[in-house]
Amino acid sequence: MLERDLKPFVKVKQPSYFTYFCAQCNNKRILPMNPNPGRAKHFFQVALTAGVIMLMTWSWFEWKGVVSFIPLWIGFEVMFRMKLRAMIPCPICGFDPYLQLIDSKRATEKTVEFWKKKFEDNGLEFLDRDALRMKKYRVPPKNDANIT
Ligand SMILES: [Zn+2]
Repeated sequence: MLERDLKPFVKVKQPSYFTYFCAQCNNKRILPMNPNPGRAKHFFQVALTAGVIMLMTWSWFEWKGVVSFIPLWIGFEVMFRMKLRAMIPCPICGFDPYLQLIDSKRATEKTVEFWKKKFEDNGLEFLDRDALRMKKYRVPPKNDANIT
């Protein structure tokens, strides 16, 4: 019997969290929310809010108050994406995949800033790429006094 012949007894629900691996440090990341905003729960929440607004403005708009669903959905999606965007950067290495897609140079600068701050918090000297290169190839100065 092949694995594909086995059918699950229960339909597996899509989890409410999202997991992925950080592209830079390869650690597993778990977001507490699914990045897709168009779920039934979201539609219900926005529809319920639109219904309440429709009932509150019944004397002016009557049934036409249902149209408030559209601006409410736009506001919901903006807030949803802002919240998701704030959660995405990796707290371990500072890598931001969203910023990497938009502007890779700025993403690199942000990662370097993250590491600078991390080093300073621990009281260590941060050496950027150029400083490391200089340190690696620097020849130690000769001290004639030690040579006898
Ligand atoms: Zn990372």
